[in-house]
Amino acid sequence: METITEIKWADLGLSPEMLALIESAGYKFPSPVQAKTIPLALKGLDVLVSSQTGSGKTASFVIPTVERFKGKNGTYVLALSPTREIAQQTGEVFENFAKSFGMKVVVCIGGANINEEKEALASSPHIIVATPGRLCDHLERGNVWLDFIQCLIFDEADRMLEMGFAKQIDLITEQIPKERQTLMLSATFAPAVEKLARKAMNHPEQVLIEKTTQTAPKIEQELYWLPEERKLTQLVRILEREKGTAFVFVNSKEKTYQLARLLNNKGIQDVTYIHSDLQQEHRELAVAEFKSGKYRIIVATDVMGRGIDVDDVAHVINYDVPKEAADYIHRIGRTGRRGLTGHASTFAIPGKDDKAIAAIAKLRGVQAPERPVPGQREERPQYPKSRSPRPQSNNHPRPRRETAPPKVVTPVPTVAPAPVKAEGFLGKIKRFFSKLSG
Ligand code: AMP
Repeated sequence: METITEIKWADLGLSPEMLALIESAGYKFPSPVQAKTIPLALKGLDVLVSSQTGSGKTASFVIPTVERFKGKNGTYVLALSPTREIAQQTGEVFENFAKSFGMKVVVCIGGANINEEKEALASSPHIIVATPGRLCDHLERGNVWLDFIQCLIFDEADRMLEMGFAKQIDLITEQIPKERQTLMLSATFAPAVEKLARKAMNHPEQVLIEKTTQTAPKIEQELYWLPEERKLTQLVRILEREKGTAFVFVNSKEKTYQLARLLNNKGIQDVTYIHSDLQQEHRELAVAEFKSGKYRIIVATDVMGRGIDVDDVAHVINYDVPKEAADYIHRIGRTGRRGLTGHASTFAIPGKDDKAIAAIAKLRGVQAPERPVPGQREERPQYPKSRSPRPQSNNHPRPRRETAPPKVVTPVPTVAPAPVKAEGFLGKIKRFFSKLSG
């Protein structure tokens, strides 16, 4: 977590009670997004915040909101989150800061018991955190009214829109008084986000922490051009070298468990997976077991990956190139957090993924890498020579495995080892992916 030591929490206009809570949370200094957003939000202004995941963005809207509405009775705050997991985590952060002021937080998410949520909503909570779909269910059933909301928060607005929540968001926004504060946070500003901001906000103050197209500063990024059938071998190599935790992203639900099994078959046992068809309790268990260190590796889809608040993943591996370029930024934002050095490896299939790789390059404002000529040897099985000596699992401790690994399901044929790649092409790849550390 990058924090700014020249700015103190006490400079931001917060009450002594809130400062004490921040101290007990162990936040020594505000992060840049907090230092800029909190004073504006405390004034009741609309704020449009561009900030990547891991920057402390949640506290940047939770702290001023609790500060503004503490001591008042009524449901004044509504925070919308893209996924259940993000909603739950946001709910917890709200709880941490709100409960000592006697404020009640209710989280409404798909998969949870709707009647229990209905009862909780009837108890006049101060703060509601919800996914758009579930909140619309409650609105249709007449379980909740939004007439009293004075502060509306869109967290990860880009993601909510990408997930197709535009209609639900409109429905919800229409039911909230226009005279309100709106805080919108988004890692990227796609046209749909700008449109929503224009519709839902009044002359917002803008907080731009870094160019939205840039990823965290300490991520070493690598690109491997290789055909689908060689990806598994390459993944195994990386995972065997990597001693820290790893997040492996794939583009379909089925592939999460298929890949986890294939890794088991290759002798890598400390791997779990998560996808949105798993029951809520199983998802929570997978996340908890990954966080606790029972499993070192998690295979996930984008939606699920975004919901997991782990900020010291050593290595992000894009087993599949993300369909949306913005997801690349989100995915690799899992590593290199809190000032640690991170690694990200991307597997691209020549021919199939060229356009997606070019789109990522465009978003990042760097030159698109050339792909190898068909038939040439392409992937590079070693870390770049520039990284010498290779960091010893850098500062990410390898978690201990405490219990038996998941069962091997089916045997998988061994894939031939990948050939060594020509040096010249490496240079091009490095040019593409090396900008960040500089
Ligand atoms: P977020 O970007 O909201 O997902 O936050 C990422 C992580 O940073 C969370 O685990 C927070 O608890 C932590 N965090 C937030 N603000 C600070 C701060 N000022 N100092 C240290 N850690 C922080």
